[in-house]
Amino acid sequence: MISRRTLLAAAASLPVAARAAQDVLRATPPVAISSSNGLGTTKKAVELMREGKDTVEAAVEGVVLVEDDPNDTSVGYGGLPNELGVVQLDASVMHGPTMRAGAVGCLESIKNPSRVAKMVMERTDHVLLVGPGALAFAKAMGFQEENLLTERARRAWLRWKTTLSDQDDWLSDEEMKADFDYIEPRHPDAMAHRPTGTISCIALNDKREVSGCTTTSGLAYKLPGRVGDSPIIGAGLYVDGEVGGCGSTGRGEAVLQSCGSRTVVENMKRGMTPAEAILDVLKRICDQTKSPRLLNRPGRPNFDVNFYALRVDGAYAGGRIYRGGRFAVNDGGESRLVDSVYLFENAR
Ligand code: ASP
Repeated sequence: MISRRTLLAAAASLPVAARAAQDVLRATPPVAISSSNGLGTTKKAVELMREGKDTVEAAVEGVVLVEDDPNDTSVGYGGLPNELGVVQLDASVMHGPTMRAGAVGCLESIKNPSRVAKMVMERTDHVLLVGPGALAFAKAMGFQEENLLTERARRAWLRWKTTLSDQDDWLSDEEMKADFDYIEPRHPDAMAHRPTGTISCIALNDKREVSGCTTTSGLAYKLPGRVGDSPIIGAGLYVDGEVGGCGSTGRGEAVLQSCGSRTVVENMKRGMTPAEAILDVLKRICDQTKSPRLLNRPGRPNFDVNFYALRVDGAYAGGRIYRGGRFAVNDGGESRLVDSVYLFENAR
């Protein structure tokens, strides 16, 4: 048995990032940053900002490249489906100059949820539409319904379904009890391996205007109706026009429980660098993770979370719990991948 006290002590002794957080990366706007699957996205976003397009349009049209790509199984067309084999998409946008936002959750049959989220922001007095209501709105806006389940995604889902073991999202009686009794994790050194993925992009122009967009098919094989962090303003995305923006990818439940992106932006508002702001939130996520099924033996999470933060002065960073993360940056010319700051070398 691991006692509650042992877990809390392990959390309190978390080491600090290997790369100094004061080592500030800075770009001259226009600049866009995104998750590592966004080399094309960030390039496109910067090109659009150079043409004078608004920052939210730049971020959205950048991520559309990935939504349209059948080979990216974490976003839009070709995304991995839910438990029933249905692709349900989540997306959000936030526009710094007006502080307006729009989002859709559990949207089916429309391959560009980011564009629908932008229309929710522009054409309604609401922020979030979900499920059939989001689909009805999209159709009213002229979006076409189509089958988003590619053959590759269907086969992956079928493989998961036919080999179902404990890799689903239902908690057994034992797991439920363990969450409250702090029983030792069953797989002490294992990282959770459910496929995830998302794209999040933050764009800053030369007028120091900033916006962002996050879009995903969410956790693969999720329970139908599950909504992750991506379409929740403050979790998977937050922008403050005076400060900067932040988006996230990774285990959405941890980002929701920590109000992750909003907290990163608030940290920057209080004077932290983007890297410091991200590391602080990652540490909070580690401290707040108490369920044994989510921890390895040393009390570290068996999942990862990434944040991407861009300040209005051009300072930026990506960060995640474990070493090895990278993120995409473009400030003109070709995009590049940059190492993320991190809390731990590995999960042991
Ligand atoms: N954050 C996404 C979600 O939880 C998944 C991911 O980024 O991998 O829906």
